[in-house]
Amino acid sequence: MTTDFAATRAQFLLPEGIIYLDGNSLGPLPRAAAARVASCVTEEWGKMLIRGWNAAGWMDQPSRLGTRIGRLIGAEPGSVVLGDTLSIKVYQALASALDMVPGRRVILSDTGNFPSDLYMAEGLCRTLGPDYRLVTVAPEEVAGAITEEVAVLMLTEVDYRTGRKHDMAALTAAAHAKGALAIWDLAHSAGALPVDLAGAGADFAVGCTYKYLNSGPGGPAFIYVAPRHQDAARPALSGWLGHAEPFAFDLHYRPGTGVERMRVGTPPILQLAALEASLDIWDQVDMAALRTRSIALCDAFIAGVEASCPDLALASPRNAAERGSQVSFRHAQGYAIMQALIAEGVIGDFRAPDILRFGFTPLYTSDADVSQAVAILSQIMASGSWDRPEFHARAKVT
Ligand SMILES: *Cc1c(COP(=O)(O)O)cnc(C)c1O
Repeated sequence: MTTDFAATRAQFLLPEGIIYLDGNSLGPLPRAAAARVASCVTEEWGKMLIRGWNAAGWMDQPSRLGTRIGRLIGAEPGSVVLGDTLSIKVYQALASALDMVPGRRVILSDTGNFPSDLYMAEGLCRTLGPDYRLVTVAPEEVAGAITEEVAVLMLTEVDYRTGRKHDMAALTAAAHAKGALAIWDLAHSAGALPVDLAGAGADFAVGCTYKYLNSGPGGPAFIYVAPRHQDAARPALSGWLGHAEPFAFDLHYRPGTGVERMRVGTPPILQLAALEASLDIWDQVDMAALRTRSIALCDAFIAGVEASCPDLALASPRNAAERGSQVSFRHAQGYAIMQALIAEGVIGDFRAPDILRFGFTPLYTSDADVSQAVAILSQIMASGSWDRPEFHARAKVT
């Protein structure tokens, strides 16, 4: 399978005059998505009304699209299902995994993890009782911190700030060697690089679709459960759509078969229609080719910025093998510099306290985008034009 990245780029609506380097936070609009969502609204919802659940196949969308995402993350067919938000799926995977390791009370994670994942773990520990605790260590100390006390190793494969990538296969094996389970958050992996969940032996994985998978703001999350666990995992959030027979309306919960039991409530059909349009593009993509292209784009950006912006310090691993598909630089005035860049049409984002973050998404990032972004950034740094009052004003979302 070869991938024509000029052809995939043509399938996105990219506003004129914008260089978009933030698809790691919110993917752009696939051209076909507007019509696909409009047709879901007028032809399905509008004309079929409630019959759409059967006639338009709405009820099976979470598993059907889950299996298409599964190809991108090395999941066995039928082991991924969509729904809810990523924070909720983190909680569900954690609660299910803890339940499968009786007698152990420790969740191990790292200090580079995304705060919501850590908050969900803290909240779950409080609910379960005083014996449960979340332990966090520096990312490079994770392997050494996996003891026989650890019930669950919960990590985000690619660090949202620096892009540093964990070795999923090695850490999963280390967790298993100590009798712990491993949960992987693929928020910055799914659609960013090849992932091999089955090959790594991951127990659970979760991720979102609005970043590299381009489902639009508020698009649902996904959860993976390894086939060997699917009939043992107790869905902590036991909603009616994860029941064996939702329309039997039993008074007691009986989990459904396979990963379907991780469903909770009514799926977001309009958002899934947008995701479907994006997956039509993803279906054409070879993940090895994506990785090669991603590394070329990231390496070119690093080389360009380092050659022309001596005040910016690389915050991402220099070695591409240790990185996801994003590049970050540190600067004490990173917020203002990013606002100046955005004003010039180069959209990246800022992560406190000092990270300028740039996502490289081969589906639509071109070589010209990289060289123009470098040129504009170096001009802003050389002229000091970022130091205007309007660039220091903080908005709600950074
Ligand atoms: C983006 C991201 C989230 C966001 O969670 P939502 O519930 O979708 O808002 C959570 N965890 C990680 C690691 C992320 O990168």
